[in-house]
Amino acid sequence: MGHTPAPVDLGPATALICRECGESYDLGPRYACEQCFGPLEISYDFGAVTRSDIEAGPGNIWRYRGLLPVPSQVAETPNTEPGLTRLVRADDLAESLGLQKLWVKDDSGNPTHSFKDRVVAVALAAARELGFKVLACPSTGNLANAVAAAAARAGIRSAVFVPADLEAQKIIMTAVYGGLFVTVDGNYDDVNRLASEIAGEREDWAFVNVNVRPYYAEGSKTLGYEIAEQLGWRLPEQIVVPVASGSQLTKIDKAFRELIALGLVEDRPYKVFGAQAAGCGPVAAAFKAGHDVVRPVRPDTIAKSLAIGNPADGPYVLDVARRTGGAVEDVTDAEVVEGIQLLARTEGIFSETAGGVVVATLRKLVSAGRLDPAAETVIINSGDGLKTLDAVAPVARPSANIAPSLEAFRKAGLG
Ligand SMILES: *Cc1c(COP(=O)(O)O)cnc(C)c1O
Repeated sequence: MGHTPAPVDLGPATALICRECGESYDLGPRYACEQCFGPLEISYDFGAVTRSDIEAGPGNIWRYRGLLPVPSQVAETPNTEPGLTRLVRADDLAESLGLQKLWVKDDSGNPTHSFKDRVVAVALAAARELGFKVLACPSTGNLANAVAAAAARAGIRSAVFVPADLEAQKIIMTAVYGGLFVTVDGNYDDVNRLASEIAGEREDWAFVNVNVRPYYAEGSKTLGYEIAEQLGWRLPEQIVVPVASGSQLTKIDKAFRELIALGLVEDRPYKVFGAQAAGCGPVAAAFKAGHDVVRPVRPDTIAKSLAIGNPADGPYVLDVARRTGGAVEDVTDAEVVEGIQLLARTEGIFSETAGGVVVATLRKLVSAGRLDPAAETVIINSGDGLKTLDAVAPVARPSANIAPSLEAFRKAGLG
């Protein structure tokens, strides 16, 4: 403290601003306001950014580097190059739900098969510039995969902490990259608290979603940029987004507002809808009760990647949903499984439980008349079904098991 920080190259980022009281800080490894403990957020000076600059950029999130808190040469350092995942027109799913124009932003196509590669890539780039030596996180699973992989690719150490009861796929997929990997007997909120305590002791560890959270969170903006660009530089009229900490949802909204302010898309109204599992739906509960504060819950759901009982950005999710005329809704675990099956059977996309939460929420919002069936709608599939096999294993079974003979096939009476 007291010394002048060395100048850092974080591209267009200019300062950290407290979201609550507006206090401003130099760019550095901070995440909470010293005055009011509010969360810090990046502010920028974008200058002129054009569609053609972006379109001429790399085929990954670094095409938006001029809108992110990362060094200008970020694309040239070894990284996992996430993003520019497909935006799939989903006519069959739309028809089965009574919608007219629906797209799935399929983020299962990222390097470690979830949207977390975006936020980790931005956190890694900023953390290296800020002088951190280790990439760390507490995680509900996908973040663990993304941090371990990104650190391996960048040639730095990782330190990952997860609840011990995670899906086997996510445990194995973290361990395979090497690095320090600790399972903790507790839920995510316990692991998160532990990580904050460790971050206080290990000053060269960048916990991506704790002490470098302001940088990490900005990575989610790239989902919003890509959706607009892939729609032909246009905002959707409605979007349904999964909510864990709530960061992704608030940053998609931030991305849309930035694109409007920069003149890159036409200014038209859009509605943002949040999707949670009923077994961990504190933001949905607050939305429905008309509350501004989010009461923490103890998670109990198969949607483990969304199982954050005390979501850091919960109140800001409520703000976005209310300001845009959206909503936050929750669905049961049985509906989540149906959602996974519906997306798979209509569009050939196998989502993890978080995707099932989104599809089921979409269906619920349509039947409740909360979504306009004629409006252009985008939903997010944030992860790959291969990571949450147990959720569908009981209902996803072969049609039959037969001996290797034509007779056996005939006898089985199969279509
Ligand atoms: C982390 C995660 C989210 C949402 O995370 P936020 O904390 O709300 O930003 C959504 N889907 C999946 C699959 C995730 O792993």
